[in-house]
Amino acid sequence: MPFVRSACVLVLSAAVAVSGTVAATGAANRSGSTIGSQGAGDPYFPSQGNGGYNVGHYDLYLRYTPSGQHLRGTATIQARATKTLTRFDLDLRHSMKVSSVWVNGTKAVAKQPASRTQELVITPKHTLPKGQQFTVRVHYAGVGKAIHDPDGSLDGWIPTSDGAFVAGEPQGAPTWFPVNNSPRDKATYRVMVNVPKGLAAISNGALKSRVTKHNRTTWTWKLTKPISSYLVTATVGKYKITRGHTGDGVPYLIAVDPSQQADSANVLRKLPRILDFFTTRYGKYPFKQSGAIVDNAPYVGYALETATRPIFDRAPSESTLAHELAHEWYGDTVTLKRWRDIWLNEGFAEFSAWLWDEHSGGQTGAQHLNQLMSLSANNEIWNPPPGNPRTNDQIFSDSVYERGAGTLQALREKLGNKTFFTIMRGWVAAHRYGNATVGEFTSYASAVSHRDLTHFFHVWLYKNGKP
Ligand SMILES: [Zn+2]
Repeated sequence: MPFVRSACVLVLSAAVAVSGTVAATGAANRSGSTIGSQGAGDPYFPSQGNGGYNVGHYDLYLRYTPSGQHLRGTATIQARATKTLTRFDLDLRHSMKVSSVWVNGTKAVAKQPASRTQELVITPKHTLPKGQQFTVRVHYAGVGKAIHDPDGSLDGWIPTSDGAFVAGEPQGAPTWFPVNNSPRDKATYRVMVNVPKGLAAISNGALKSRVTKHNRTTWTWKLTKPISSYLVTATVGKYKITRGHTGDGVPYLIAVDPSQQADSANVLRKLPRILDFFTTRYGKYPFKQSGAIVDNAPYVGYALETATRPIFDRAPSESTLAHELAHEWYGDTVTLKRWRDIWLNEGFAEFSAWLWDEHSGGQTGAQHLNQLMSLSANNEIWNPPPGNPRTNDQIFSDSVYERGAGTLQALREKLGNKTFFTIMRGWVAAHRYGNATVGEFTSYASAVSHRDLTHFFHVWLYKNGKP
């Protein structure tokens, strides 16, 4: 995400949540429970994700009608039990009502308890032994609706005048499909969206087919590399679609709302060159497709690095486009393990926007850093420290982006380009399609550079105030 979100609503104490989660998990293990937990243990968003299984693939069929915002879906989920399960949960907001759930083809008991706004509690007829692969099919329908995040921004299925802007970071995926909404549970996707003829539905990966019947069109997309659920989209609207290939041969598909075409043409033309440039610095582009979605939804207030095809709420600036494209390496293939590791996404993407500026004849990274360091110690930009945003409403604060980008430029100046880019490339290669923590990055940088960087990272990532 490139833009700073404003406002703050809820402040969650990480310390309290951590101890609560650990205690609950410990108790479950000791008692040998066969019930999958209702959260994945992230202290910033304790109700997101679930325990007891891992998803391998989501097959989603959605039917959306913008007038009335009616959304109907069938989700077929392939998963594997990580312990013996007599009951488990999926995350699905209660704006979606479930009509039936089937586990391995047999009808299961499904409940959406009123006290838990996004849990779908599933009791299969037969116990699922640890290690078993199983299939869950969920039929559901409701009103496509966004949710408000702790920092006040909108997230999820966000209706627009001609469709919906669909962006799931950090909590939005369960507004439109049943999911294990933990960034650690990566899966592949096939997304089919049926919309009124004349509208497009744009998702991740390759466009496999577009079939029109009875005045409606079904768009089918397939993503064969595993991603976190917050990076999935199924954005609906009127779009002009263009296609091409980068210099490295990666196909791109760009969908632009007609109202944004004039303002975005010059910037979008640079998309292949930006991807080729990052490939030279960060290593092979991690996915088989690329592109962008430019919508007309300025009230959203941000863009998101939806995998293979970032989504923009309006015609993007060049720096915003570079930021989102860099996320394909930092965020989408190497993904944070917990939400407090957000610096691995945003600091890296913002630094990459500086790097693109330098490469294209604008300010150098050093000039960007000098400009940042010229800000006074009282400036809000210095807090919270990017390596520990402390609360879930601060993960998208200025500091994570700008002080976070400055951290990498300072590291680059300390180690020199050769060692620095060896670290940046090696980091992606080591964690491709996986998850990582800030601590793992700082240890990796120290190991590769043969330097003790403990003090450097303490000052830049963890200490309060201006480094
Ligand atoms: Zn970002």
